[in-house]
Amino acid sequence: MSTHSHIQEIIQDVYEKYKDIDEGEVATYIPELAKANPDHFGIAMVTVDGQVCSAGDCEQEFTIQSICKPFAFQMALEEFGRDRTLEHVGVEPSGDAFNSIELEPKTMRPYNAMINAGAIAIASLIKKDTRESGVEEFVDKMARAAGRPLRIDEFVYASEDATGNRNRAIAYLMLNCGIIDAEVEHSLHQYFSQCSLLVTAQDLAMMAATLANMGMNPVTQERVFDFNYIKDTLTVMFTCGLYDHAGEWAYRVGLPAKSGVGGGLIAVVNRQLGIAVYSPRLDAKGNSVRGILACKELASHLGLHAFEFTNVGSSFMQWLGT
Ligand code: GLU
Repeated sequence: MSTHSHIQEIIQDVYEKYKDIDEGEVATYIPELAKANPDHFGIAMVTVDGQVCSAGDCEQEFTIQSICKPFAFQMALEEFGRDRTLEHVGVEPSGDAFNSIELEPKTMRPYNAMINAGAIAIASLIKKDTRESGVEEFVDKMARAAGRPLRIDEFVYASEDATGNRNRAIAYLMLNCGIIDAEVEHSLHQYFSQCSLLVTAQDLAMMAATLANMGMNPVTQERVFDFNYIKDTLTVMFTCGLYDHAGEWAYRVGLPAKSGVGGGLIAVVNRQLGIAVYSPRLDAKGNSVRGILACKELASHLGLHAFEFTNVGSSFMQWLGT
């Protein structure tokens, strides 16, 4: 059996194992998200040599939500460098929920770029002179990472904007502390638009694989991200990617990852592959229930944990036959 069909079989098995799990609830705090079909479930994996394996609803579009955060952080680092970016956001896990209203007491920075406060600070940095051009630049970069044109879901955007007063409060607190500039609504437009980007599990796996592949899309071979900053992004994903579940995740799965309340979850195996799962039923911490189960299973089955002792550069190589 070829390596590709072997991995395809593993992914199919994981899909079958969890497809009937119906724990968790679709997010409803943004009314438009409540319309997601709770039964949708897709798993996709893309290797750095461009092999794509998938099972289930991998072509179903949904909004990226918080999975935009590591990519926006990467864009800020590329545009402003480490020092300037880190004046606006820290790299400490907060251990609190994604929408917590708190800043580091000494610096007044948000704890990290994976929670809302940090992502809004980053959106404020990467926004452009006009609302349209800032969003366009983000969408274009994500499209190059996904390897196909992408667009914003205007209904989700409108719903985020209409109900986003907690994010507004966080933004005004940061304005008060000098972390973001006075263009608060402009920054929120950038942030809400980023969250409303429509993607599929296959797109997300390709985007994760682009990070794994030192910034180059493994299929189009286009250089999308500056590899000098990918280690920054992966580190923060590793320590802060799953909200207040991040420590448990690092322990059990051991991969840089990011989840979003739309039901998406990505994980990156450095230099090897990207994984994405879509399943909109969330646990109490806002993470996809089947997303976590599927990633745990794949990580343990394929020996992907960063500190797996059999992971000689990684044991995944054995599946690739190298
Ligand atoms: N748009 C969402 C918010 O800021 C993103 C949340 C998430 O996926 O964690 O409320």
